[in-house]
Parts: sequence; structure tokens; C-alpha cells
Amino acid sequence: PAEQTLSAQIVPFDSTRKLLLSRDITQLERVQTVHRDFVANVSHELRTPLTVVGGFIETMIDMPSSDAATRETHLQLMYEQTQRMQRLVEDLLTLSKLESGAQVREEEVDIPQLMQLLRTEANGLSQGRHTVEIGRLDRPRLIGNHDELHSALGNLVSNAIRYTPPGGTITIGWEKRDDTACFTCRDTGIGIAPEHIPRLTERFYRVDRGRSRNTGGTGLGLAIVKHILHRHQAQMIITSDLGKGSEFAVKFPQARVIE
Ligand code: ADP
Repeated sequence: PAEQTLSAQIVPFDSTRKLLLSRDITQLERVQTVHRDFVANVSHELRTPLTVVGGFIETMIDMPSSDAATRETHLQLMYEQTQRMQRLVEDLLTLSKLESGAQVREEEVDIPQLMQLLRTEANGLSQGRHTVEIGRLDRPRLIGNHDELHSALGNLVSNAIRYTPPGGTITIGWEKRDDTACFTCRDTGIGIAPEHIPRLTERFYRVDRGRSRNTGGTGLGLAIVKHILHRHQAQMIITSDLGKGSEFAVKFPQARVIE
């Protein structure tokens, strides 16, 4: 294993080298802790829905003569839990694919088509409970992977809907900021306290666990967004006012914008 090789390489009395090696080992320990926490988190996330499904199956076996309405309720609840597991597994697969660093095709992104898609999906998610608007639209000509950008920006829009109470407004658009193309997604939702902002892209980090789950969240959305944006050398800037709303802005490097 890697740590053994590292400790075997320690040369006595060479303090600089020792320092470097101990930094490598600390780094390795940090990676191992992150990995352990991740496995624990995944197990926990899967255990809860499995327990619920198992419980209902047991009830149905024990009470085979229960009425049709009860059976229907149980089946509906089981279905919801399997969907939750399915979403989690899909997100895990997406993350692992992104982490493997597989290359994807890059070409000019069809921004009008992408915006149309984002708006249609937002309206589908909102089911008429929010106003979904296209704000400023300085349509840039951008190079990237359409599917990945659709997934990343779509995640931001779906979060905006999920964390905005009914009656709120979600505004998406493209602006020129610092002389480059910037996608913006603004909501009039619950907002995020400043201390949480730096941690939002960590896997399974949620400000409010219950709220995230109730709205179908896996806790992996922004981790996926972070990966995709990193591959596009884009930067995400989160600004929020607790209780009033948030803005997620994605700034692309000039090198990706065709003038
Ligand atoms: P989840 O599946 O929990 O939504 P994400 O990774 O997409 O996972 O987001 C992480 C957390 O960031 C969420 O649980 C939520 O607390 C917070 N968050 C993300 N987007 C917003 C938003 N637009 N408004 C308020 N909170 C948000």
C-alpha cells in the first residue's frame, strides 16, 4: 500500500524531505477520511429507503388480507423510496464517470436551445407554482459539451425551484461580466447563510437535510455541478441573502467564448 512505501522512504536527518513526506502522508490520510465518510454517507442514504421498503413488504406479508386502499398506499410509498434510491445511484454513477476524467466532445453550444430546455424543465418541476423568467440574454457563442452543461445548469435551476417557496420567481439568463460570458440563475427563495456557502459543493452537504430529501434531493447535485464546471474551466459564484434569495452565477473563461 502507498503509505508503507512513503514511510520507508523517510531519510533520517533530512528535515526538508521529512517535512515533505509528512505532508504527503497527511494528504493521504485526508483522502482516506474523505473516502471513508463518503462510503458511510452512501450506505446511510441507501439504508433509510431500504428499511422503509423492507418494512412495508413485511407488513404486506403479515397482513395479506389488507384492503386494496391500504395496499395501494403501501405500494405508492415503496415506489417513492425506490425512486429515491434510483436518483442516488444515477448521481453516483454520474459523479464516478466525471471523476474518471473521460474526455467528452466539445463544440459550440446551442445557447437558445439550451435556454429553451432549461425553461421547459423548470416549468415542469414547478408545476405552475413559480414564475420562471428569462432575464438578460446576451447570448454568447460558447464552446463546451452540451449534455454536461445542460446537466450542470439544469441542476442550478432545479435547486432554485426546490428551494423557493410557491409564488417565488426564478430568473435565468446570460450576461457579460468581467468581459466574459456568465450564466445566472436567481431565485427569490429561502437563501443560504454565509457560513454554509463554501461547503455547498461537498458531496452530501446539505443545509437542511429534511428539506433536501422532501424535495427529492440526493445531496450530490452541486458536487456534480462543480466537476462539470471544473472541466469547462468555469467558476461558480454564489451570492445569497438569507430569507430573500440566492444567485448562482457561472463565469466561463474568455478562451471558451467565440467573439
Ligand atoms: P440537494 O440534493 O440537497 O439539493 P445539492 O448538492 O444540489 O443537493 O445542494 C446542496 C445544498 O445546497 C442543498 O441541500 C441546499 O441546502 C443548498 N442549496 C442549493 N441550492 C440552493 C438554493 N438555490 N437556495 C437555497 N439553498 C440551496
